[in-house]
Amino acid sequence: MAFNNYNTLSKEDFKLVEPTKVEDLNPSFFKYNKDLNIIICSTCFLTLLNTKDIKKHLVKNHSDFYNNTKDIKDIIKKLEALNITSYLDLKTIPNNTYYFKDLPLIFNTFMCFKCNYITTSNKKLRTHLVTIKGLKNKDTTKRKDIITNIPIIILYPSLNKGLFIPKLPNLELNTSLVIREASTSSSSNSSTTSLKENDNTINTSNLFLDYISKKEDLILKAKEIDESTISNKALSSFLKNSRFNIYLENKNIKNLKGEI
Ligand SMILES: [Zn+2]
Ligand SMILES: [Zn+2]
Repeated sequence: MAFNNYNTLSKEDFKLVEPTKVEDLNPSFFKYNKDLNIIICSTCFLTLLNTKDIKKHLVKNHSDFYNNTKDIKDIIKKLEALNITSYLDLKTIPNNTYYFKDLPLIFNTFMCFKCNYITTSNKKLRTHLVTIKGLKNKDTTKRKDIITNIPIIILYPSLNKGLFIPKLPNLELNTSLVIREASTSSSSNSSTTSLKENDNTINTSNLFLDYISKKEDLILKAKEIDESTISNKALSSFLKNSRFNIYLENKNIKNLKGEI
């Protein structure tokens, strides 16, 4: 998967992404993910390092809870009995798979255009390009082969470890338009071109329904969090990402008005 198209996302865009399931533990600020076997502290926005870190973390970061909870020993025992993968044993987390809403999204990132290696350090990425790939910068101008601002999540921020690209908002509609643009501009044989155009017609007709359902979604969400207005930013970024404005081109707005 090419992540290059995902460097204009903002936090708002992730409202459309369903968060990965986690269980509430006791204390409820601890969240457990069964798939990766990790405990996330939703107050501190990090993942506990291992079983030993449970008590340590409570003592250090939640001393009120630790000192004022009667059955704290039993609570810790129960937590320690959970299957928890140590940060040392955690395998590479696949990109575009998990989205933990209790961990912050980080946008200040640098990615290798060849292998999707991603880091928060521009220096590390430059070293990666030069030493691993042998790609020296030709002149003193700013490197153009570094992709920036791809969103990531870091499980262990203090160690800068457990870094992955979260489940991304659906930009498929965008991609289909890019394919159409590419296929109409090239002189490829007619059968492939018409096939691609068919695909695109389906996508375009879904686009309007998709827009309406997303809009309803946003209204519902706005009501849930007791906001009096719809998040205009989320809506406009959806419009931008879906290229809904392209769909509207050459359409009679009066005819569409009733449907909105
Ligand atoms: Zn914590
Ligand atoms: Zn690379």
